[in-house]
Amino acid sequence: MENSFWILNNESEDYSALDKSIDAEYLIVGAGLTGLHTAYLLSDISSNIVIVDANKVGSGSSGRNTGKVTSSHGLIYDYISQKYGDKSSKLYYEANEEGLRLIKDIVQKYNIDCNFETVPNYIFTTEDEGLEEIKKEYKSCERLGIPYEYLNNIEGFPIKIKGALKLDNQAQFDSKKYMNKLAQIICEKGVSIYENTPVLGLDTDKNEYIAKVNGDNEIKAKTVIIASSNPWHDSLGLYFSKEQAYRSYLTLSKLNKPIAKGMYINVEKPSKTIRVYHENDRDYLVCGGFDHKTGKCDDECKIFGSIVEFAKNNFKIGMLEYRWSTQDYITTDNIPYIGHINNNTNNLYIATGFCKWGITTSAVAAIIFKDLITNGECKYKEVFNPSRTGSYLNMKYLKENSIVAYDYIKGKLKKGHTDCQVEKDEGKVVIINGDKYGAYRDKDGKLYVVDITCTHLGCELKFNSFEKSWDCPCHGSRFSYDGSILNGPALKPLKLLGMGDNDIDPDLV
Ligand SMILES: Cc1cc2nc3c(=O)[nH]c(=O)nc-3n(C[C@H](O)[C@H](O)[C@H](O)COP(=O)(O)OP(=O)(O)OC[C@H]3O[C@@H](n4cnc5c(N)ncnc54)[C@H](O)[C@@H]3O)c2cc1C
Repeated sequence: MENSFWILNNESEDYSALDKSIDAEYLIVGAGLTGLHTAYLLSDISSNIVIVDANKVGSGSSGRNTGKVTSSHGLIYDYISQKYGDKSSKLYYEANEEGLRLIKDIVQKYNIDCNFETVPNYIFTTEDEGLEEIKKEYKSCERLGIPYEYLNNIEGFPIKIKGALKLDNQAQFDSKKYMNKLAQIICEKGVSIYENTPVLGLDTDKNEYIAKVNGDNEIKAKTVIIASSNPWHDSLGLYFSKEQAYRSYLTLSKLNKPIAKGMYINVEKPSKTIRVYHENDRDYLVCGGFDHKTGKCDDECKIFGSIVEFAKNNFKIGMLEYRWSTQDYITTDNIPYIGHINNNTNNLYIATGFCKWGITTSAVAAIIFKDLITNGECKYKEVFNPSRTGSYLNMKYLKENSIVAYDYIKGKLKKGHTDCQVEKDEGKVVIINGDKYGAYRDKDGKLYVVDITCTHLGCELKFNSFEKSWDCPCHGSRFSYDGSILNGPALKPLKLLGMGDNDIDPDLV
C-alpha cells in the first residue's frame, strides 16, 4: 500500500501487540480518530480502557485524509432537512461544530503541534446545475441559522466559479501528527494501546463480550466500541448492505503561487478536494478526490493522471511529490451510523459510514458514546441512530443491493486467462486446473497466486493496479497480493494456491 504524505513524514511511537489474554472495562477496536477520541473522553470515567488496532495508530483513513476539520460536509443540510426535517439537520450541524470545538480544545489544551489553522471552507461550482444546488443549500441554511455566506466569486482562488458557499471558522490540520500526540496523551491518562492486534471475532458470554485476537488470546470486556471504520461485526445490523465502500485519491505538490486561504470542494462529479498545507515556509497543494466504488475502476493508476492534469491546469505547482489513496464508507442516506449496534443490544456500540467527513464526526462519535454510556441519552442520538429506518427503507438501498447481487453474479461468470503468463508488476485473473485465481508477480519476479473469492461474503475480487491489491466490489474488503487483509469487513485472509479454498465468513452467510 502506498503511504500518505502524513504517515511518511511523521515519526510515530510503536505500541506492542497483545501477547496474552486480558480483561477490560471498555474495549475500543480501531486506533483511528474515532477510537482515540472515544478513549480520550471515556478516560474521564474509567481507568481500564483498551484500544486494539489491526495495524498501527492512525494507519487507516485517519492518517490518509485531506485534514479538513469542518462541519461543511458538501451539500448536506438541505438534503437532511428534506429527508428528516429541519431539527435533524440543525442537530447534525451542531454536533459537528461541537466535534470541531472538541478537537480545537484538545489541540490548545495540550499545545499539539499539528499545523492546526483556522480557515474558511468553500463549496464551489463551475456548472449551472451546481449553482441551483448551491442556492437551494443556501436557502435551507439561512432558515436553519447555519452561517454560510453566498459568493459569486472567490477572490484569490484561480478556478472560475459560478457560485460558492463559504463557512468561516473551520480548520485544517495534519491529522497524523495530531493522532500521534493524542495517543500519547490518552496513554498518560491510563489507556492501553495494542498495535498489530486484529480482532478476529466477537462472542458474548453472560454480561460480557469476548473478543478473539491474534494467537489464542482473548479480551473480555463489559463494553465494546467498534471504531474500525468497516463493520466487521454486524450483529444483524445489516451494515454491509447499508453502506458502500469508496476509494478516493490524494496528491501533494509544491505550490508556487499562493491562493486564498481556505479549503475547497466542488459540487459536481468527479469530486475535487483542494487545500494548502504550509510547512517550513513552503506551501504545498493537497489535491484529489476523484472517488469511485471500491473494486469498480478499470485502472486506478490513471486517476492520478487526471488529478495532476486538473491541478496543473488551475494552479502553479511543481512536480508531484506524493500520491496515495484511501477508503471510506458512504451510507445510503449520507449520515453516519453512530450508536448502539442494534436496538436490542446493550454495551456494544459502532461508528461507521462517515461519508468521507469523519474528522469532526469522529469527535461527534466520542461525544455520543460518552453520553449514552454515562446518561443513556444524547441529544444527537436519533440523527445518527444506526437503526433508523430511513437508511434502508429507500430506493438507494434497493438499488445498491441489486448492484451487489449483479456484481456477485458477474464476478462468478467472468473468465480468467488460461495462459498464466504474468509480467513483473502485473496482476490478473488466471485459470489453473479449471479454477479461477488471482496472480501477481512482484518487481523481483516472485509470483503470488491467491484464491480471489472474498472471505467476507463470497464475491469475486478485482485487481487494483495502484495498490497491487485484490478489492471486493460488493462490500469493500481489500487484500494484499499475498492474501493478507488490508481493509475489512473481511476477517480472514485469502489462501495462497495449494492451501485450499478460502474460508467464507460463516456468521454472515
Ligand atoms: C481521500 C479521503 C480524504 C478524506 N478527507 C477528509 C477530510 O478532509 N475531512 C474529514 O472530515 N474527513 C475526511 N475523510 C474521511 C476520514 O478520513 C474518515 O472518515 C475518518 O478518518 C475515519 O476515522 P476512523 O477512526 O473511524 O477510521 P480509520 O481511521 O480508518 O481507523 C480504523 C482503524 O481500525 C483498524 N481496524 C480495522 N479493522 C480492525 C479489526 N478487525 N481489528 C482491529 N483493528 C481494526 C484499522 O487498522 C484502522 O487503524 C477523507 C476520506 C478519504 C477517503
